[in-house]
Amino acid sequence: METLSHWISGAHVKGGDRHADVFNPATGEVQAKVPLASKAEVDAAIAAAAAAQPAWGATNPQRRARVMMEFVRLLNRDMDKLAEALSREHGKTIPDAKGDVQRGLEVIEFCIGAPHLLKGEFTDSAGPGIDMYSLRQPLGVVAGITPFNFPAMIPLWKMGPALSCGNAFILKPSERDPSVPLMLAELLKEAGLPDGILQVVNGDKEAVDAILDNETIQAVGFVGSTPIAQYIYARGCANGKRVQCFGGAKNHMIIMPDADMDKAADALIGAGYGAAGERCMAISVAVPVGDATADALIERLIPRIEKLKVGPYTAGDDVDYGPVVTAAAKANIEKLVQSGIDQGAKLVVDGRNFSLQGYEEGFFVGPHLFDHVTTEMDIYRKEIFGPVLSTVRAQTYEEALGYAMDHEYGNGTAIFTRDGDTARDFAARINVGMVGINVPIPVPLAYHTFGGWKKSGFGDLNQHGPDSFRFYTRTKTVTARWPSGIREGGEFNFKAMD
Ligand code: NAD
Repeated sequence: METLSHWISGAHVKGGDRHADVFNPATGEVQAKVPLASKAEVDAAIAAAAAAQPAWGATNPQRRARVMMEFVRLLNRDMDKLAEALSREHGKTIPDAKGDVQRGLEVIEFCIGAPHLLKGEFTDSAGPGIDMYSLRQPLGVVAGITPFNFPAMIPLWKMGPALSCGNAFILKPSERDPSVPLMLAELLKEAGLPDGILQVVNGDKEAVDAILDNETIQAVGFVGSTPIAQYIYARGCANGKRVQCFGGAKNHMIIMPDADMDKAADALIGAGYGAAGERCMAISVAVPVGDATADALIERLIPRIEKLKVGPYTAGDDVDYGPVVTAAAKANIEKLVQSGIDQGAKLVVDGRNFSLQGYEEGFFVGPHLFDHVTTEMDIYRKEIFGPVLSTVRAQTYEEALGYAMDHEYGNGTAIFTRDGDTARDFAARINVGMVGINVPIPVPLAYHTFGGWKKSGFGDLNQHGPDSFRFYTRTKTVTARWPSGIREGGEFNFKAMD
């Protein structure tokens, strides 16, 4: 069985005593062991990064951008290999795995614009003989802690801007699917990134805590579940670091009576069940407005759900979604489905007891659809992160809007309507970070920023887009007087510029 490594100073480095199992979710078999770094290993990786960073920070931004340009070429070259490794550990289909790489790659393309994005501001003649300018400088050594569900995209979202800004970057990927992040590190070396500037330390809580407590680390970007996001935000901030944490979700899609009901049903199938619901932007709550809308929607959803093909990624195009990531994730979904039944929701499509011949040990979960879900039920309050769609019936637009507004999560949301006035009102009033109008999964493109509100996001800057260049740099403002000024004698008071 393969034993994976860390990636330190440009080479694979074996771990110590502690290891975790990496599963093939389609078969349920352990396919590799991943090392779990100790505090001493993490500290050593950070120290090596700190030694390498000044030269990288002093490299002109255009040269750093050229590394990213070559990295894009290599990502495209190795797309099939990356997707296969990703699907084998995560379970998602190959086209979905390629999408995972692609959406990360697009952020690297954005980072090629670093020379432009890092330009500071300049005021000529702010006073007599005085110029004022601001510089965007790298922070030094920064870190990213990433989740299992996008093992290429989210590490790329973090490392691209951090490295392009001149920082050294410590990546602590998910221990459930660590192979692709290691492959990304190999490709960056091939693209010309100097050794030590990207370190991949595999690990669990011990490695995360070592990052949070290490004084050299200047900033931490996290993506994962909300309880861990809150923990990392609190501990990182208490240690004086810049921290941004993106957490869980419960994304509502409102379906107005005037919506194209077939299109809304199609959209819900992809957004609710794609990637087995293991997306932070998945739609997990449908809110049809009016009983007639709800009935029309359910009537269209049922046959579409019954046609969904669930299977291993190796079955190619014949599969709509694959297994969930672990046996524990499957058990948690099953427990929540049971709670929905016990608490009185109507299970319209029952995906329990789903089994696939030849893959009985795989972590497959059949698709579920609930109707008549109410706001106090666990299936409504909690993130299920599985192929389970809950329908909450609203009688009016205001009631539907209220459900999305009152939920503790605020990552994504969507409205399906033909009415521009309703759509505009929704976009203006909703307290959620990413909004779709007749778009079920409104993931912003690389040059905009990605981030949720409420308990889906902690910190004040978003991921990728211009915000990421702000997060991974700090501003220094210089006031320069040339050439006379001081020669006229000392000044003792602040005064307005003449
Ligand atoms: P997770 O919180 O279990 O793990 C995320 C990271 O935190 C991993 O690297 C893991 O090793 C580490 N970690 C886990 N437990 C820890 C602990 N006790 N102390 C310190 N570190 C710990 O999340 P996951 O299951 O890998 O990912 C799924 C979650 O991520 C879902 O809640 C999903 O909504 C969320 N997510 C959010 C976004 C977003 O942008 N908002 C994007 C993708 C995923």
